[in-house]
Amino acid sequence: MNVLRTLIYGGEVSLTIADTTKLVNEGITRHGLKGEAAIAFGKTLAMLTYMSASLKERAGEISLAFRTEGKLLNLCASGNADLFIRGYIDWNESAKTLLGEGSLTVVRDDGYNRPFVGTCAMTGSELDKNFEEYYRISEQLPTNIATTVIMDGDAVAFSGIIVLQPLPFASVQTLEKLKSGEELEKVLKSVQTFGVLETAKTEFSALENECILREAKYQCNCSREYLTSVLVSLGKAQFSQIIQEEGEVRVHCHYCNTDYVFTKSDEGILFP
Ligand SMILES: [Zn+2]
Repeated sequence: MNVLRTLIYGGEVSLTIADTTKLVNEGITRHGLKGEAAIAFGKTLAMLTYMSASLKERAGEISLAFRTEGKLLNLCASGNADLFIRGYIDWNESAKTLLGEGSLTVVRDDGYNRPFVGTCAMTGSELDKNFEEYYRISEQLPTNIATTVIMDGDAVAFSGIIVLQPLPFASVQTLEKLKSGEELEKVLKSVQTFGVLETAKTEFSALENECILREAKYQCNCSREYLTSVLVSLGKAQFSQIIQEEGEVRVHCHYCNTDYVFTKSDEGILFP
């Protein structure tokens, strides 16, 4: 189990700790990412792990998009209440900075009512600061966040996230003793060495029987069956025309970097 959630400090603060090493490794491998792009992508997947773990409804979904004029041209990631996380990235190596001008937009669908959409302008050069800013501006929840991705060559040696979010009734004394994002970064070293549960107990005095442990993984929700239904709605005439012109119908899923190929032999199955 790689995601831990619990309440600490007399129930006044919610704590989330996740070891996202495996899912980030899966994500960067699927997209063939290296260096700075791999780290930015991984930190965002770690953030999505937290956001997905905070969804209240079982049917909930959440997605996040960075659009900037820096190297991070476009980064979309999404997750659901089952803690299936996925994403894709458009990277501009020739830009001078990671972020530049731009925005961070979050769409949260709790599975009922209309989805909540929040957005904030980029601030500074660090992803973690932008995540915190998003919670402060859009959700009006002061939230301390640290994410990390440590690379070992082209693979992820460790990735993790720690988030502290005080509840609305938290006392001033509690708020004063909260670790800042910078301090939480140091605690991530403990997660790497001792795991999520030991870190929660030793660093935050969490009680083991109050910790909820779950598993998050990198998983796309696309499927050949789903795309078949999309092609059916396209109609037989258009399908046949593409087959005639291109020889095949190729559908690409950005999230898992998979190509689905349909040929003339599929026509009978799609349009019986
Ligand atoms: Zn996919």
